[in-house]
Amino acid sequence: MNTINKLTELFSKFPGIGPRQAKRFVYFLLTRNASFLEELSRLLLEIKKEVSTCESCMRFFSNPLHNTKVCEICRDSNRHNDMLMIIERDADFENIEKSKIYEGKYFILGGKVPILEKNPENRIRVSQLKERIKDENIKEIILALSVNPDGENTERYVRELLTPLAEKDSIKITMLGRGLSTGIELEYPDSDTLKNAFKNRT
Ligand SMILES: [Zn+2]
Repeated sequence: MNTINKLTELFSKFPGIGPRQAKRFVYFLLTRNASFLEELSRLLLEIKKEVSTCESCMRFFSNPLHNTKVCEICRDSNRHNDMLMIIERDADFENIEKSKIYEGKYFILGGKVPILEKNPENRIRVSQLKERIKDENIKEIILALSVNPDGENTERYVRELLTPLAEKDSIKITMLGRGLSTGIELEYPDSDTLKNAFKNRT
């Protein structure tokens, strides 16, 4: 296989990218100059070395010196320890932070549980989540998941998983209000929509 085809195959593994788009990326790269390509290759080699997974929220964070195991959000003493928002992916985290509606802590599930999935623990971070909610400061868990069938399935699964533990420690489990349009991933809504969904959580 030649380099064009090999690169096309790699790009088509990216989320949401089909073979046709993947090939456009390859031809785009061919039109760039050497310094662009050098910068890109350098960053690709660095990213895994520089970024760590937070041991508390499981988020990817920049940690070039590898001198901490938890991210800046989890370490921030101004953020409320009594609220834990459960979200699917890092991109959702970025969008919620951008909206500035929320000042609590997060937990990143790492995916969704598709409706027919027999082994949800292969899809989301079940054991890490159970460990995380042992934190006795938590008073409210907010489920902030996509408004689509897989998101709703994930919500049911996580709620069932957490209810016994939550009842034991009188933790309230809420979810974002339904101001969000159907089919949406939390990566996309604008700040006002998120603000309303957060305010109207039930
Ligand atoms: Zn963290």
